[in-house]
Amino acid sequence: MSISFNAQRLLIVPDAEESNSSRLRVSTIAEPVVCSFCFGTGMEVVPVKGARRCRCRTHDARKKLLEAARIPRRYEECSLVNYQPANNNGSQLQAFNYAYRLGRDYPSVDRGLLFMGTCGVGKTHLATAILRGLIDKGVRCLFFEFGALLKEIQDSYNSISQTSALKVLAPVYEAEVLVLDELGASKPTDWVRDTMMQIIGTRYNNRRLTVFTTNYLDARRHSADEILEDRIGVRLRSRLYEMCKTVIIEGEDNRRRFDGV
Ligand SMILES: [Zn+2]
Repeated sequence: MSISFNAQRLLIVPDAEESNSSRLRVSTIAEPVVCSFCFGTGMEVVPVKGARRCRCRTHDARKKLLEAARIPRRYEECSLVNYQPANNNGSQLQAFNYAYRLGRDYPSVDRGLLFMGTCGVGKTHLATAILRGLIDKGVRCLFFEFGALLKEIQDSYNSISQTSALKVLAPVYEAEVLVLDELGASKPTDWVRDTMMQIIGTRYNNRRLTVFTTNYLDARRHSADEILEDRIGVRLRSRLYEMCKTVIIEGEDNRRRFDGV
């Protein structure tokens, strides 16, 4: 799917620009990425008898997928329906639009999203809302705050812990759609950069969709500002351009008045 950025169009619009070639590319993915009983339609065929609501849409199946996704409690009620862009904030409407289209078009989507913006503009709300929508379609999703993931991997090297790095990473590699929240928040040591590159590179090679959020921007507003590239390295930033559409969200910090930050 190709997504065009057009600041004047803020409504949800059909993908008129989607080319046949990009659809073909998507269809070459070998593994099924949606429910194999209903192919994401929600209805499964019962031979001779007809069709019925698919087993993946049952309450239990959805509950299991939701639990496995590990969406933090703070964001568990976040959906596209209760996402409220600030008045006259075109970037927030635009971001909503991208989130909506990804959920609607999946699995015919070949790039994830990179939500970029300062604290409290709704990046994680949109990212978790995408997961909820996909879980309703029977898609296996996972949420990880990037720093927490790195810590779990580090802890797994500790001989007392019973987990191995591979055990931590397997679900991260295998989730059909992964949210990595707060990219660039960890102090960028060599180990952090290598590990990020390995995780993101593996998902890229396996053509798995990833949605990122980051508080760091690409443009330096002041000479002392750190930008995303400073935090994650040139190579990884460049890989993200291939994997994701960058969506910049601007606005006031929604949480400021509650958190007293
Ligand atoms: Zn199904």
